Amino acid sequence: MRHLPVFLDLQGAPALLVGGGRIAARKLALLRSAGAAVTVVAPAACPEIVAQAARGEVAWHKRRFATDDVAGVRIVFAATDDEAANDAVAAAARAASIPVNVADDGARSSFILPAIVDRSPLVVAVSSGGAAPMLATAVRARIEALLDESWSRLAAFADRWRAAIRSARPAVPARRRLYEWLLDGPVAEAVRAGREPEAQRLLEGALAEAAPAPRGFVSLVGAGPGDPELLTLRALRALQAADVILADRLVGPEILARARREAEVVDVGKSAGGPGASQERINRLLVHHARRGRRVVRLKGGDPLVFGRGGEEADWLARHGVPFEIVPGITAALGCAAYAGIPLTDRRFAETVHFVTAHGADAADRVDWAGLAGRRQTLVVYMGVAAVGRVRERLLAARLPAATPVAIIENGTLPGQRVLLTDLGGLESAVASHAVGSPALLVIGESAAEAARLAWFGPAPVTEAVLKTA
Ligand code: SAH
Repeated sequence: MRHLPVFLDLQGAPALLVGGGRIAARKLALLRSAGAAVTVVAPAACPEIVAQAARGEVAWHKRRFATDDVAGVRIVFAATDDEAANDAVAAAARAASIPVNVADDGARSSFILPAIVDRSPLVVAVSSGGAAPMLATAVRARIEALLDESWSRLAAFADRWRAAIRSARPAVPARRRLYEWLLDGPVAEAVRAGREPEAQRLLEGALAEAAPAPRGFVSLVGAGPGDPELLTLRALRALQAADVILADRLVGPEILARARREAEVVDVGKSAGGPGASQERINRLLVHHARRGRRVVRLKGGDPLVFGRGGEEADWLARHGVPFEIVPGITAALGCAAYAGIPLTDRRFAETVHFVTAHGADAADRVDWAGLAGRRQTLVVYMGVAAVGRVRERLLAARLPAATPVAIIENGTLPGQRVLLTDLGGLESAVASHAVGSPALLVIGESAAEAARLAWFGPAPVTEAVLKTA
């Protein structure tokens, strides 16, 4: 972030505006809307400024700028069409450590002006750091559409009730719930419809009741394979309402950045092979936070119910009487296949697709490898990197041809996505020679070879010489 966004209180503050043209008039309007006491310095001024000076709304010194003009003011704007004059103003302000803005001149400014959506008391400021003002303007247009004029009334209404709400709901979670109801419920409708007395009655009624006992709730949320764009809308909503987030290590910072800023994030880091919190501790934490009335999000990579222990967590919550929801996510197999261009059940190659895990020898022993080694099926192996030797050996023993194509997808859907194409025979050496790390997924079967033609995301797949198909 190149600039710190702040909202400056200029009520009654002395402000200096150098320049008298149209642009100066716009800055003047902005300064006056923030309540500043403005002095304009300019040898000549446009009719708008002249009129305001005549009405005594601003002081106008009809002359050129002098260094002393900055003395005692809190903020300075330069908006002349004379670069040397702007330069002199900026230098004087900087020498006196007074914030200065030079119109259309970021280099001479110590602060820049954002694009503003004014729904006072609600104000949204958008900045591109001066880099692309058009972009900020386009974003402002979208926000303007989102926040119609009624938001101004609603914000003013909420502002008038702030003290009463605070004393009726001293605890922050209860207060937040009240505000959510206020913004989304019948009060907002009444305010928008211009029926303020009714809004007031409704709010008084709600405040007179004791705050409803906080009801804890757990969302078991699938965060998808990594790309934040693959979050579902429901997952996003849960993240934005969360008090506490218990996150797996597979869930990256780009996804957590979309959570409610005040949410407490607990890394319960369960990634393959990593230490991480025990499942028992996670279960206990879920119940602990929910019983304190918090909205808890248990955020897991991919889908919570696919190799994710989400079922065990739901079971635990059900047995402890904690209400919950399960929000599906795009599982790694689907995310990685799509981003690597692998049509899992393309009818030319496969009728079935299997998801298996090869995490640990025990798990591998329970897999029916013979059943998976038939032709015309696609096999997706999760948590397979440490176990590629075992996967290769079992599938070869089950008579899957050594020439069967295999795609290894590392960091699927993420900026660091890597796709390696090899065959079953060469699987182990490919993983070793390319130093494949975690997380990675194997797709085994004829459809995997399609990645050579259909991959569209990230660098082109690396194809091992051993692969003769495609
Ligand atoms: N519940 C998750 C799976 C958890 S098991 C889901 O539905 O996707 C963790 C395994 O998933 C990893 O070892 C890896 O095999 C796979 N995986 C998860 N994210 C991945 C990614 N972005 N790229 C490749 N593999 C991934």
